[in-house]
Amino acid sequence: MDRILDDVQRDVLPGLTHWQSPSFFAYFQANASGAGFAGEMLSTGLNVVPFMWKASPVATELEQVVVDWMAGLLGLPELFCFAGGGGGVLHGSTCEAVVCTLAAARDRAISRLGHAAILRMVVYSSDQTHATFQKGARIVGIPPANFRVLHTTAESGYGLSADTVRAAVEEDVARGLVPLYLCATVGTTGLGAIDPVRELGMWLHIDAAYAGSAAICPEFRCHLDGAELADSVSMNPHKWFLTNMDCCCLWVADPTALTSALSTDPEYLKNVGSGGDVSPIDYKDWQIALSRRFRGIKLWVVLRRYGAAGMRNYIRRHVRMAEWFELAVVADERFEVVVPRNFSLVCFRLRLRLGIDDDAVDGLNRQLLAAVNASGRAFMTHFVMDGKFVIRLAVGGAMTEMRHVRDVWELLKEKANELVGAHEG
Ligand code: PLP
Repeated sequence: MDRILDDVQRDVLPGLTHWQSPSFFAYFQANASGAGFAGEMLSTGLNVVPFMWKASPVATELEQVVVDWMAGLLGLPELFCFAGGGGGVLHGSTCEAVVCTLAAARDRAISRLGHAAILRMVVYSSDQTHATFQKGARIVGIPPANFRVLHTTAESGYGLSADTVRAAVEEDVARGLVPLYLCATVGTTGLGAIDPVRELGMWLHIDAAYAGSAAICPEFRCHLDGAELADSVSMNPHKWFLTNMDCCCLWVADPTALTSALSTDPEYLKNVGSGGDVSPIDYKDWQIALSRRFRGIKLWVVLRRYGAAGMRNYIRRHVRMAEWFELAVVADERFEVVVPRNFSLVCFRLRLRLGIDDDAVDGLNRQLLAAVNASGRAFMTHFVMDGKFVIRLAVGGAMTEMRHVRDVWELLKEKANELVGAHEG
């Protein structure tokens, strides 16, 4: 083992991108913490496989407890809790959660309209929705031509507008199509934009992969307004909730819709002898795979260790850092914030200046990001908005402190000076 670890040190670590570095501002974070690590070790060490209640009663029941706790923390309506007739499950990723809910929506429609109707089923997203949704729609057999991408604009902060959704749905119904599923996002990946859930309709899924964590703070809960109208909601504690990879909470209002699409009942998995009045939860019927990990204990340890107040402080600290960075960008006339910040993601760029055309500004921004990343002192990623190259600073690392955000701003200014100087000189 010592030799193997030496090899890790010599051959593996130098090639790693250090996701836990406090100066990692790329993508969205994959949080790690002492409690998340301890919980992960318990899960890995115990290595139980709670695919059904009988296979590991306490693991199943603990999972039910933590998803209910999480629903309460996010302020989700009671209908997503077990006591309210709904319920939650821990998946490994949003992608899996989306595939499972798409399958549930598809089968619910098939039971009404017959199998042939799949060719007429339409799913809707915005041009800001994560690509995971398109992949999911493909997997469950939605014809590619029936994947509708609705346009968003700067006026709506790149969130979907109800009028756009209504117009698309009316047009499709008039053509004899079947509107099936709308994926709304609270906190889009590129810009952190918000689709106003209350104004939308059909099987409504809310993807709050990143920003769901912020909803534990009352001041951000408004962005989940209308959640009671949704059929399903998902968020990833492994992004911004101090829970080591992997962990995605999925809640559904009607578990039967999910289990009708995903259940299997072979003899070797019969729940003989589970007894009692309450039928046990068999999580194999809430997901794609049979086998599954004991993620419940990981999230339980995190929640016990940091508590609601601790987690709220954690989220607010990052939001304050992002706010500081946004103000610094606004105050520097060489830069612009391209879309108002919603959570802890700031999207900005070097601005258009006299004598420099659009393409040249794009080129400068590309070079600026490349220079910052090549320095090895910080890591950020980009997005393209209305054809413009935009730099994203996603704050949310477990070890990130204000000084790291100040440092990255200094680094950006330093590299910008070099680039703009070289361009003008
Ligand atoms: N949805 C949103 C809004 C995301 O930001 C991401 C990842 O960043 C995903 C979905 C994909 O999540 P996962 O990797 O858990 O499938």
